[in-house]
Amino acid sequence: MSFCQDVKQEVMKTPLRAFHCRSAMVYAILKLSKSFPQEPTVFTTENKDLAEDAASMLAEMGAIVDIRRDLHRLRADTEVYTVSIEHEHTRALLRDYYHLGKSPLDWSFLEKSCCRVAFLRGLFLAYGSMASPEKEYHLEINALTPLFAEELYRVAENCGIRFKVARRKGCEILYLKESEQIEDFLTLIGAPVSSMKLMEVKVMKTVRNHVNRTTNCETANLNKTVSAAAGQLQDIRFIRDTVGLSYLDEELRELAQLRLQNSEMSLRELAATLSQPISRSGVNHRLKRISDIAQKLREQGVALPEDENEG
Ligand SMILES: [Zn+2]
Repeated sequence: MSFCQDVKQEVMKTPLRAFHCRSAMVYAILKLSKSFPQEPTVFTTENKDLAEDAASMLAEMGAIVDIRRDLHRLRADTEVYTVSIEHEHTRALLRDYYHLGKSPLDWSFLEKSCCRVAFLRGLFLAYGSMASPEKEYHLEINALTPLFAEELYRVAENCGIRFKVARRKGCEILYLKESEQIEDFLTLIGAPVSSMKLMEVKVMKTVRNHVNRTTNCETANLNKTVSAAAGQLQDIRFIRDTVGLSYLDEELRELAQLRLQNSEMSLRELAATLSQPISRSGVNHRLKRISDIAQKLREQGVALPEDENEG
């Protein structure tokens, strides 16, 4: 099951008890329906519990409700449930009772704060979705029209949630992108466990990012060492191939030869391998002197034979 389905399943575990709240949730489902009451279909969901709960809530209002079970068009292993009211007269009654259609929201159904939460819960269950937090923080609700988007925004704002609004494929979408807001929303509509899971994912992501940053930093240091060694090798080879290593005094010559034979050795290892071991910074100092000599030779116009230079 997807994270989104888990959230909806969790919400459905605690059914609304008070009639005013159930009525507010039904109001959300009917008001934001794309087809109802002109057509029998109210909404379609993958959540069986939601379909059954919505049907029983509508039955409480006196409606005769059908639930049709189909297979998902794209995912043959998933069942989808369509909640519909065939009886035309019942549809007309519900339309009149809830003032359905394009009109603004009727706030008389949303007077109590518990009912506003129930309304948001219905919206998300029937017309909302969210991405897995592993991928991204994104929760959205299809608000259909700009007028509804504005009104739903106000209901949510009233509950402490500030949605953002975007337009997609001719529909207004309310969405949340900030993880804290999504956590608050999930807790609000009755999915505290999912909210906690989202927090855990966030912590894991933070730890992973930190580890990545540290690793990148270490890799950068390693690259620095490698490129420094490459520079030293280039200078030593330049001296060897032009004036010869005998040009260097004895202590530099020994180190130069050691470096040529052991390009991977760290400064510390080089220091310990010398016939008269010196400190790491001592080795660094000698290598620097070798590079300075190579640099001076280059400035004096000493150059490698053509063919070698190209290789
Ligand atoms: Zn209520």
